[in-house]
Amino acid sequence: MKEIVIKDKQNYLIKNYPFSEIPELADRKKCIHCDSEIIVGNYKVFADESGVEYISCPNTPKCNGTVIDWFDI
Ligand SMILES: [Zn+2]
Repeated sequence: MKEIVIKDKQNYLIKNYPFSEIPELADRKKCIHCDSEIIVGNYKVFADESGVEYISCPNTPKCNGTVIDWFDI
């Protein structure tokens, strides 16, 4: 997986967030993979070999959770 640098993180979320309720960058959620509280705006983006991009836990590579593992606190 290759890390992608996102310049406009809010805009990227608006375009790529998989659920209808798009969070603000300052929102906090809980990643159930690493059991940590995260700040949404610290997310990372990684692309796989076919170019599919994944919104990933800020604790990547320690955590392999993605946006679907985040829950409201
Ligand atoms: Zn995590």
